[in-house]
Amino acid sequence: MSGFDCDLFVVGGGSGGVRAARMAAQRGARVVLAEAAALGGTCVNVGCIPKKLYSYAAHYAHDFQDAAGFGWDVPAARFDWQRLKMNRAAEIARLNGVYAQLLAGAGVTMVPGWATLLDAHTVQVATGDGARRWRAAHILVATGGTPSVPHFPGREHVLTSDQMFDLEPLPRRLVVVGGGYIACEFASIFQGLGVQVTQLYRGEQVLRGFDDDVRAFLAQEMGKTGIDLRLHSNVAAIERAGAGLALTLESGEALTADAVLYATGRVPNVAGLGLDAAGVALNAHGAIVVDEHFRTGVPSIHAVGDVCSRLQLTPVALAEAMVVVDRLFGTGERRMDYECVPTAVFTHPNIGTVGLTERQARERFGELRIFRSEFRPLKHTLSASTERTLMKLVVDAASDRVVGLHMVGADAGEIVQGFAVAMKAGATKSVFDHTLGIHPTAAEEFVTMREPVTR
Ligand code: FAD
Ligand code: NDP
Repeated sequence: MSGFDCDLFVVGGGSGGVRAARMAAQRGARVVLAEAAALGGTCVNVGCIPKKLYSYAAHYAHDFQDAAGFGWDVPAARFDWQRLKMNRAAEIARLNGVYAQLLAGAGVTMVPGWATLLDAHTVQVATGDGARRWRAAHILVATGGTPSVPHFPGREHVLTSDQMFDLEPLPRRLVVVGGGYIACEFASIFQGLGVQVTQLYRGEQVLRGFDDDVRAFLAQEMGKTGIDLRLHSNVAAIERAGAGLALTLESGEALTADAVLYATGRVPNVAGLGLDAAGVALNAHGAIVVDEHFRTGVPSIHAVGDVCSRLQLTPVALAEAMVVVDRLFGTGERRMDYECVPTAVFTHPNIGTVGLTERQARERFGELRIFRSEFRPLKHTLSASTERTLMKLVVDAASDRVVGLHMVGADAGEIVQGFAVAMKAGATKSVFDHTLGIHPTAAEEFVTMREPVTR
């Protein structure tokens, strides 16, 4: 487009921004991308990827224990935190490079630095050697989110997930505050790495929004691994006490720890972006308001991903980015569908889930058929582990459609990804029943549950 320095200026090189920049450039658009920190954003640097690598590390602790029942004598295992951190950092650096190569290969101009919107078509980037302005036909804001910590006395002593990957030293006692994805995942990870973990959650059960059976089952399994999960519990104040931290809980109880992780949600990254100057509106939670095409109130400015605070998941940011690229440089037919978004929580054991919870389905449909199976996985008949697996199907009785599928157990994320395709295709319980199992697996249970436990 004439009169502009580029067709698309992308602010933020995370999941959504990189995808949009690369795909737009591949369609022939002139694209510039500004990233203030490391390419890949939250997911690559301080989110999904390092978290999953640490989750693998934590699982070894259980695997070493399980091995004995299978005849293996494993000498007392020793964990080297420094080596894990070093190897993780090297892998993340490699991924940063891969992202840079992908963008360069697609013809995207990368500008390292903080970007500010000056008006509906102008972006200024503060780089090491001054500031440069770009005039863009379209601007995409994909600046993600950042951890949010409530205000209370002693707030300055706590950590967020951003700092957990490089903690020095590995704490002996960790308190985790929160009951969401990050709190549960990090509690499991650090417990597995040998840290004594206490998790405090203010509500009646962790993972609000997940199926109630899944929540209760996971809490029980996490407890078995040694996590001291305290419900209806919250921090009133924290003080430094020698080398550690002294916590006073709202109940008046005292607790000591070497580190405290606050995993109490994330807020959109909008500060210092110049959204006011550009005329972009925010909602009450500080998220950018967009329509179904991810257009803000300013026609030339779009926004995707965590900065819009819909579903804060990498595949969601990627899919939203594809809708914007299709709208600006394709046919404009692509739409975002938030139904049946599968998700996993990488706790020990994992949760995998897609579709509606039983509670949501009861609100939406009339009669339901609920299928539930809880069992000791074959592997643990020989290991000494008491870990159990839960599988649950929520079926709309009128249409026979499977509207919710939930699992807590080993590899739940891997298993549920496959079933998500069937759910998206509108599979009925009858289709599940006519599907043969793969024997012996845990996953076959999803196609062999015959009798509903409740209606
Ligand atoms: P981001 O990936 O956060 O990228 C935004 C980028 O914008 C950042 O790189 C930032 O530096 C840059 N930026 C911000 N402001 C400016 C500016 N003014 N100028 C230039 N650059 C700027 N999701 C999953 O699906 N699976 C998981 O297992 C998972 N695990 C997670 C674990 C943790 C600990 C966390 C915190 C998140 C996890 N997520 C997971 C969520 C996932 O990481 C996010 O949903 C996803 O990264 C959002 O992508 P985004 O493009 O919106 O933002
Ligand atoms: P969540 O919104 O998932 O959980 C926040 C937790 O903090 C909730 O339990 C909430 O309680 C609690 N909380 C909020 N405010 C306070 C407070 N003032 N005092 C005490 N507790 C409080 O956010 P996370 O930070 O765990 O993660 C952010 C997002 O990142 C997730 O929602 C998810 O979308 C994404 N993510 C995805 C992962 C995955 O796909 N595996 C992994 C990690 C993150 P309450 O329920 O009572 O409101």
